[in-house]
Amino acid sequence: MSNPYLNFIGGRWVPARSGRTFFNTNPATGEMLGEFPASGPEDVADAVEAARIAYRSWRLVPAPKRAEILYRAGEIIRDRKEELARAMTREMGKTLAETRGDVQEGIDMAYLAAGEGRRLYGVTTPSEMPNKWAMSARVPIGVVGAITPWNFPFAIPSWKLMPALVAGNTAVFKPAGDTPEMAWHFARVFEEAGLPSGVLNLVFGSGSQVGDPIVAHPGIQVISFTGSTEVGLAINAQAGRLGKRVSLEMGGKNAVIVLDDADLALATDAIVWSAFGTTGQRCTACSRVLVHERVHDDLAQRVAERAKALRLGDGLDPATEVGPLVNGRQVETVERYVAIGRAEGALTAGGERATQGALGRGHFYRPTVFADVRADARVAVEEIFGPVLAMVKVKSLEEAVEINNASMYGLSSALFTRDVNRAFQAMRDLETGIVYVNHGTTGAETHLPFGGTRGTGNGHREAGHTMLDPFTEWKSIYVDFSGHLQRAQIDNN
Ligand code: NAP
Ligand code: MG
Repeated sequence: MSNPYLNFIGGRWVPARSGRTFFNTNPATGEMLGEFPASGPEDVADAVEAARIAYRSWRLVPAPKRAEILYRAGEIIRDRKEELARAMTREMGKTLAETRGDVQEGIDMAYLAAGEGRRLYGVTTPSEMPNKWAMSARVPIGVVGAITPWNFPFAIPSWKLMPALVAGNTAVFKPAGDTPEMAWHFARVFEEAGLPSGVLNLVFGSGSQVGDPIVAHPGIQVISFTGSTEVGLAINAQAGRLGKRVSLEMGGKNAVIVLDDADLALATDAIVWSAFGTTGQRCTACSRVLVHERVHDDLAQRVAERAKALRLGDGLDPATEVGPLVNGRQVETVERYVAIGRAEGALTAGGERATQGALGRGHFYRPTVFADVRADARVAVEEIFGPVLAMVKVKSLEEAVEINNASMYGLSSALFTRDVNRAFQAMRDLETGIVYVNHGTTGAETHLPFGGTRGTGNGHREAGHTMLDPFTEWKSIYVDFSGHLQRAQIDNN
């Protein structure tokens, strides 16, 4: 059978013009999963051309009709949920329970975004003149460039592309090099759902050969990026010079705050899930716990015991609780930070690769906990993006909030307490885009805005009731039906 994994440009499945390819592998086993086009700027140019042509007619398709295609896509994804989840676990390692959740976000987002097709509300307001009508309407912008990471390889493209398309834009999509197959499934779903040719174009390849040309291409007006702060800020600088709109979702260093009146069993469950779910590779993962000094030792012991007991393995095995890291580079980063952490705190769990038996074939690292770490220690401040947790003693909620807000990131935070007054104080004072009370730092729902402050983002929010903001312009429209010239600010005095 010929290789099915090709770029999707103008409704056709095509190889890179250069003919070059790269390989996709399973991080749990090392198995080769497929060969994908290693595209270049010339392929991006083809995709932008197709998207520009398609935009001329797609923007004129009534939004409720565009939405019907999204509903159909949602139904196809729902029918294929299990197949997609299995493919995702094979491709990037997280457990089946988690990949099912990732696909479910795609379904939820398809229905939510499709609903916008019958809303897309604008605003009417009275004119200051008689016999004159005034309103403002959302309009699409043009061609959107979507650049996505590997950790939510179905959900994140859904958050970006579904709102962009329902609003009437067309798109060029570059997925992460570690998860090309999920992007291929995503495009196939939309092809089957009946999306017109050229509305969604998929170009596989590296950040420098495909991502960068997308940012630079004058035919692309909006860039929606999720990934590291380093790459995001570089994109922001370049796009800023070119006058493009950019929506950025970047790194995190998310804290769970545990006060001395908290339910420690509940806090332990939540911390273990937030810190080690997706092997710590969630942008909202809990990577530090700011815990009241009176309960620090008790909580640290509970968390370390649970971390040690977590079962590592291939995410396709139902007994597995923690899958591999996505690639060897991620393992090296974790190793580097654990070496640093050994000098900064007490290692109470993990601290090494897991290599026995079948684990030796994959990128496995033991869930790692450092207790009694200073708030300014590197493992308590820098994003590691792996299964490493730092626990820091605090004396009060106020001190914890201060430490939380001093982070260069501001995505998610959580508070455990039974005191409603302190809960409301924290909800007001924690300067993150997402705040949880008596719940860990992960678990966003698609119908609420998603994103963060400071180094995490640049003021945009994905999903939720804000989903259309990055992908639409406001157009103000005045209709004068008086039959004579009425000059605003002049003739009404
Ligand atoms: P990354 O290296 O920044 O990659 C993200 C995407 O950008 C990938 O598609 C990558 O392509 C591409 N890229 C790399 N260099 C580029 C360039 N010069 N120009 C344009 N595109 C370029 O991030 P990652 O390591 O894959 O993902 C982990 C990071 O994402 C973490 O920092 C995490 O916190 C963050 N993240 C944030 C959120 C959020 O919503 N806030 C969600 C998930 C992840 P290649 O894959 O081909 O290199
Ligand atoms: Mg892979």
